[in-house]
Amino acid sequence: MSRPRIVIVGAGFAGYQTARTLSRLAKGAAEIVLVNPHDYFLYVPLLPEVATGILEPRRISVSIPGTLPDVRLMLGEADHIDLDGRRVGLVDPEGNRREISYDRLVLSAGSVNKLLPIPGVTEHAHGFRGMPEALYLRDHMTRQIELADVADDPAERDARCTFVVVGAGYTGTEVAAHGKLFTDELAGHQPSLRDREPPRWMLLDIAPRVLPGLPGHMAETAERVLTRRGVEVAMGVSVAEATKEGVRLTDDRFVPTHSLVWCVGVRPDPLVGDLGLPTEKGRLCVDEYLNVPGHPEVFACGDAAAVPDLTQPGEITPMTAQHAWRQGKTAAQNIAASCGKGERSPYRHRDLGFVVDLGGFQAAANPLRVPLSGPVAKAVTRGYHLAAMPGNRVRTGADWLLDAALSRQAVQMGLVRSDAVPLENSSPELPVRTYA
Ligand SMILES: Cc1cc2nc3c(=O)[nH]c(=O)nc-3n(C[C@H](O)[C@H](O)[C@H](O)COP(=O)(O)OP(=O)(O)OC[C@H]3O[C@@H](n4cnc5c(N)ncnc54)[C@H](O)[C@@H]3O)c2cc1C
Repeated sequence: MSRPRIVIVGAGFAGYQTARTLSRLAKGAAEIVLVNPHDYFLYVPLLPEVATGILEPRRISVSIPGTLPDVRLMLGEADHIDLDGRRVGLVDPEGNRREISYDRLVLSAGSVNKLLPIPGVTEHAHGFRGMPEALYLRDHMTRQIELADVADDPAERDARCTFVVVGAGYTGTEVAAHGKLFTDELAGHQPSLRDREPPRWMLLDIAPRVLPGLPGHMAETAERVLTRRGVEVAMGVSVAEATKEGVRLTDDRFVPTHSLVWCVGVRPDPLVGDLGLPTEKGRLCVDEYLNVPGHPEVFACGDAAAVPDLTQPGEITPMTAQHAWRQGKTAAQNIAASCGKGERSPYRHRDLGFVVDLGGFQAAANPLRVPLSGPVAKAVTRGYHLAAMPGNRVRTGADWLLDAALSRQAVQMGLVRSDAVPLENSSPELPVRTYA
């Protein structure tokens, strides 16, 4: 009898964990195929540390062939799913079209930057969802500081030394917290900047406080650390218009800047919307077994799926790595059950807490609901990330040790340019164009 073929679309937290658990359960009895545009699992929560030169990009990129030897990696981006014919169509990195049939399908394509209809934002802002955007931002910050140092016009110098982050969720808060430390250090190396005011950072959100959705003590810690560091935290304010010269805020202030980082949230990968199946908030509806109703052979999990939250009836689980990772495990077990191995079980998980790295010795954390801040929270945060990463732990730890002992390597590689990482991009995991 031929082995069933299980095709998983997307190798992020949900898809990687589905493949990993399935390969352990199946022990060769099924063919597991992972479709992904790149050959690594990206540990997204440490992306701000790549953008600010603490970690090298490969540290948070865990090789799929290197860690999942029994899984067949099919490089490419799925762009068509034929639910009746049970086939996935994809385009490989060299532009060739391919097709693969499946007996079971897992949709775990994650999310992309959320857009809002604000004039000029699509043209002048950059998101923060994938590796290309993180590498672009690192170069961009370095370049702005280096160009500011030689600017004859004080207005140009000030604009280049001003960085605006929109969205004070964990992504925007971490980007502003790490970014401020990074640019302060960069400016300290520049002869005409080192004795001036340090670079200006603003963190904006229409919400009344930073880290909306996380416990109040984490927001208080984050706001205190940011303010002490010199980041202007402006709540209840957003961008009304973005131009080449700067941003006009909703309170009518104009802030001259060349740096607008868009962290207002994410929306499910467009692949999901194209299926013609029911969605909730753009996410594919599944039942508590992560099964797509009416299609017993199709499962979905992670940011792309609207998974009922059995711990909060009527709600769907939030878009977090914690949920995506655990849903991947449940999806794998339920697929194995559908092939006759084990019993299927519903997805149920209560948050174990959250960690927000604020750079330096600062973090805010609530492991198992214990409120922590300062160096203790930082140690918990780093320990949590190391434990959660499926590989590269020693190298990541080594980078952290080096960063504690040495100054950052502030050089621009110039490999990812502005037009390679447009905000409106259905594939933030890949640069639109690279200049090597
Ligand atoms: C900067 C940042 C920091 C974060 N920090 C935290 C944190 O501290 N804690 C936390 O819980 N959550 C955090 N999150 C959220 C968390 O990263 C996401 O909820 C999580 O990654 C969702 O997992 P996923 O598997 O659904 O999607 P992803 O991890 O995004 O993976 C999706 C995968 O699918 C691939 N893909 C996309 N489209 C296709 C396609 N058409 N064909 C094939 N493959 C495709 C992508 O390349 C990617 O590999 C953070 C997010 C960001 C952006």
